[in-house]
Amino acid sequence: MQTIQHFINGEYTPSASGQTFEKRSPLDNRLIARVAEGGQAEVDAAVAAARAALRGDWSRMSTEKRVAMLHAVADEITRRFDDFVAAEEADTGQPHHVIAHAFVPRGAANFKIFADVIKNVATEAFQMDTPDGRGALNYAIRKPKGVIGVISPWNAPFLLMTWKVGPALACGNTVVVKPSEETPATAALLGEVMNAVGVPKGVYNVVHGFGPAAAGEFITRHDGVDAITFTGETRTGAAIMKAAADGIRDVSFELGGKNAGIVFADCDFDAAVDGIFRSAFLNTGQVCLGTERVYVERPLFDRFVQALKLRCESVKYGRPKDAGANYGPLISQEHKRKVLSYYERAVAEGATVVTGGGVPPLPAELAEGAWVQPTMWTGLPETATVVREEIFGPCCHLRPFDSEEEVLALANDNRYGLSTTIWTRDLGRAHRMADGVEVGITWINSWFLRDLRTPFGGSKQSGIGREGGVHSLEFYTDLRNVCIKY
Ligand code: NAD
Repeated sequence: MQTIQHFINGEYTPSASGQTFEKRSPLDNRLIARVAEGGQAEVDAAVAAARAALRGDWSRMSTEKRVAMLHAVADEITRRFDDFVAAEEADTGQPHHVIAHAFVPRGAANFKIFADVIKNVATEAFQMDTPDGRGALNYAIRKPKGVIGVISPWNAPFLLMTWKVGPALACGNTVVVKPSEETPATAALLGEVMNAVGVPKGVYNVVHGFGPAAAGEFITRHDGVDAITFTGETRTGAAIMKAAADGIRDVSFELGGKNAGIVFADCDFDAAVDGIFRSAFLNTGQVCLGTERVYVERPLFDRFVQALKLRCESVKYGRPKDAGANYGPLISQEHKRKVLSYYERAVAEGATVVTGGGVPPLPAELAEGAWVQPTMWTGLPETATVVREEIFGPCCHLRPFDSEEEVLALANDNRYGLSTTIWTRDLGRAHRMADGVEVGITWINSWFLRDLRTPFGGSKQSGIGREGGVHSLEFYTDLRNVCIKY
């Protein structure tokens, strides 16, 4: 069994108290690691290391060298690819192909893309008139914001954590990361990479532990932390915002979603079925951009429901590397209980269960794992709990619609506004829908097709701010004006 420690000032350390918590496999509930449980002492040490690094070698390093170092981080992740894939598989139990082809490569890309952004970015300049006629020049400079608290979730842990650490370091900041208590392994492993390529001590720090009244909250309340970037649930975002308010610490939030998938009758049918299937069930439905509400134009409704049902019923449960396995467990027993309680609620509120709705029959060795069936419902009103609340599981409700106006109103009738996937061959309609739907990201005839230069984030209660490409600079740098009198 593995022991996972904090990574503070370039060294792996246990908690001062010696306290640890258990990490169990989602596949079979077996104990796979004991993880150091950080508290105020570890957060204080990590913040102190990050502050010292901010004033030390890291701030004196040329941009060219910093950029080269972040490329080296990406290359070292690629060299240690199998270790990262194995660590992520152990923590999440998700299929090998998802982790190896999508999540871990994106983790490496997150360092390269932002290193290249910072190399090429320009700032504005204004010449101005002055009363004495001599004039003045204004220009802007970008400086690192300082110590960034990075609080990340468990659903694609390495990708989501590096999506924040990459731009933060590229902009010259230092970080204190609190990975999810469910997925500590890849954040810990990244410390070895930082040391291997010579990133100065204290630039990248990791404190493991829990959220409320624990390591997570202590970071958000710490005077030595200048800004907080957070991905997770909307209600956690609200708690962090309150904690950050005392120190006027800036926040960037990527929060929950209750995303609509919209299928028009003129779509490419097979592509739409495949796209909606992936958007609802990839990563066992644990994707913030995933679809939990599906609206299908009435003439296509029955055929679509049947085709999606077939896809759900053909998933192959299994361990990450089992031959043909394409569907993993939920992250934990706790999350399984939550998802199953929604499954029960759907039935209690009158849903027709098209498929799934419970725990799949599995071999004895997996019986203790966090497995649930992919589940589809129809027949619920829009007021039903499972149509309104984010479940973050492998499930969706499907409802027919008759017009563009109707489906736009249905899609927008939710407090979240993260993403939408729309399936149609009518270009005019695609543009109208993209213009009307209240979300941060609209995919037309695709889903989760990501160009890392684009603004990423949620509208409404799905987030605050945008990250990606040059947009990340808005959060990770302090933009300052310099005015020179001629
Ligand atoms: P969560 O909010 O429970 O936890 C996220 C992180 O916050 C964890 O590290 C946790 O320990 C920490 N935390 C919890 N309470 C805290 C507090 N009071 N102070 C400081 N830290 C605290 O979220 P989760 O269950 O890990 O992740 C699932 C959620 O994340 C879903 O709602 C999903 O939609 C969202 N998500 C959003 C995006 C996006 O880009 N918008 C991406 C992935 C996941």
